[in-house]
Amino acid sequence: MENCLFCKIMNGEIPSQKVYENEFVYAFRDINPQAPVHILVIPKKHIASLDEADAASDRELAECLRAIRVIAAQENLTGGYRVVSNCGPDACQSVHHLHFHILGGRQMEDKMA
Ligand code: 5GP
Ligand code: ZN
Repeated sequence: MENCLFCKIMNGEIPSQKVYENEFVYAFRDINPQAPVHILVIPKKHIASLDEADAASDRELAECLRAIRVIAAQENLTGGYRVVSNCGPDACQSVHHLHFHILGGRQMEDKMA
């Protein structure tokens, strides 16, 4: 998808700190980390958000979730971690390529927002 920041990151047009990649998924460190570990996991297929999940295959979606577990182990998040996907304006989604935030390395607050 042209003019999509995360497609450009995935294609290497914009540099990123890659932490994981396979046929379906790319994952990299967030440029403005909100926790000691803050990683973004994206499907290689461009879809704008979870609202467009029907445009991705079950495999493409499932691979994102499987990658999260692998990355959490790779990053030694033995105490746990939080996974967030902002969808649409009420959730303050700012990049319109589906992504899952992995947040870890510190105690999270006991509330979602
Ligand atoms: P959203 O607000 O859409 O859920 O999350 C977008 C995330 O992308 C934010 O946490 C933001 O810091 C991150 N981000 C925005 N631009 C870049 C960039 O150029 N590189 C990286 N690595 N992360 C970015
Ligand atoms: Zn994209």
